[in-house]
Amino acid sequence: MSLETQNHEKSSQAPQPEYPPACHFIGGEWVEPASGQRSASLHPATEAPHTEIAAGDAADVDTAVGAATQAFADPKWRQMAPAKRAKVLWRMAELIDQNRDNLARCESWDTGKTWFDSSKIEIPLVAEIFRYYAGWVTKNEGGVVPLPGNAMGLTLREPVGVCGMITPWNFPMLLAAWKVAPALACGNTIVLKPSEQTSLTSLWMARLGAEAGLPAGVLNTITGGGRAIGTPMVQHAGVDKISFTGSTEVGKMVQREAAETVKRVTLELGGKSPNIVFADADFKAAVRGAITGIFYNKGEVCAAGSRVLVERAIYEPFVEALAAMAAKTTVGGPFAEGVRMGPLCNADQYDSVLAYVDKGKADGARLVAGGMSLRDEVGGGKGWFVAPTVFADVDPGARIAQEEIFGPVLSVIPFDTAEEALQIAHNTRYGLAAAVWSRDLGRALGFARQLRAGTVWINTYNLYDPGLPFGGFNESGFGRDLGRDALSAYTESKSVWINLD
Ligand code: NAD
Repeated sequence: MSLETQNHEKSSQAPQPEYPPACHFIGGEWVEPASGQRSASLHPATEAPHTEIAAGDAADVDTAVGAATQAFADPKWRQMAPAKRAKVLWRMAELIDQNRDNLARCESWDTGKTWFDSSKIEIPLVAEIFRYYAGWVTKNEGGVVPLPGNAMGLTLREPVGVCGMITPWNFPMLLAAWKVAPALACGNTIVLKPSEQTSLTSLWMARLGAEAGLPAGVLNTITGGGRAIGTPMVQHAGVDKISFTGSTEVGKMVQREAAETVKRVTLELGGKSPNIVFADADFKAAVRGAITGIFYNKGEVCAAGSRVLVERAIYEPFVEALAAMAAKTTVGGPFAEGVRMGPLCNADQYDSVLAYVDKGKADGARLVAGGMSLRDEVGGGKGWFVAPTVFADVDPGARIAQEEIFGPVLSVIPFDTAEEALQIAHNTRYGLAAAVWSRDLGRALGFARQLRAGTVWINTYNLYDPGLPFGGFNESGFGRDLGRDALSAYTESKSVWINLD
């Protein structure tokens, strides 16, 4: 087999992080779970427990919401001078930078992502997001509206209140930062519930926030399962807003539950994003873009370019180049030298991705790279390793072209005309991201404008910036994280009518 692999590190050789206590962080301190229960965090490369977290329940939700409610009522935070609040956010960014190695270690141990990705890309980006929103604190302006008669209208931007945040396991600290930083910038208080599989960095985030000067109760992190603490949080009358990132299925449940108390809701959900390559594209760049589009973070990316649509004139050579590059992608443990792709995050994901590989084969797609587990070859019988997999000639209606796999499995589909490409691109229930590859910028831009997706990249893929809003069309969700747009997700508009007679 031509696939390059690299033995994963023995867990004893991989650098151990400093772990947070197996507690919640509530009201500025570590708090034991009410039930006294804990659950194990597993390392994807060894499948062995590497630490424990608190297994919270509804009582812990109640305590955390109580702390956040009290902190919201307290003028210390709500009425803190904007410049001072900005300084707290900036200080959080500095502390994140200073603790980068430890945070990145926590992330790689929890998720299996490579040390390069966690330490060089993600944690630095977390700090950037806090810096970006520190800049907005002093600019959260309202307006003055002309009114009839001797009167004046003001619009004020006020914090929503207690924000419940629920995040997934693929980019634990980064996706928490997308929500926490703008919510803090607008003066809200927070109860953050990370995925029970990857909670460590969200606990550290709350602890570093306290060190940076957040008053007690402003940022609380509680850990535990979706039904155990996610549902009670969504149902809790003391929570004003739910900001959720995760699967479309759970997102729909969250929206239904939140309707009971008319909570504000932002949903960032799944995707099946098309990466569309026209024949006039820079061939090499498009192949690289398609490869990073699907294999970055093992394909565990909501915006993964999991469908590559290629114009017929370059289809065969493109498939060949993709297959060759996929086969060269080095798979191994997250801390091993030269590894480009770590193990999948958890056992369910591993089983589900391999089941999709079987579905692809059963549905008649042409397997040109990967298509198997690497647990034995790379992990010596342990670890959720899957080979980078490419299917060509995929029917646009097939299961692997319709359903979010959330793993390193690419479906390649040929097209003849731009109209057909657009029709295939839109032929799923999602609308999170897309990309267009063409040297003709006018054509690419025209095509980008027709695409029903929250983000469209042109001649690149998988790039993010704190200033550029991110979110979905269709069943990929609604509301936007990042950029100026996120400020409206964490503020209420209040109108004031002043009678000047
Ligand atoms: P998930 O929906 O299973 O879980 C997400 C979070 O919701 C976790 O914290 C989980 O504990 C919690 N949860 C589960 N059941 C719940 C319930 N009944 N009530 C309240 N909370 C509950 O998703 P996941 O497997 O952790 O993450 C993968 C999914 O996330 C993929 O579908 C991916 O596309 C999506 N995602 C979307 C974005 C985006 O920005 N659009 C980003 C990353 C991931």
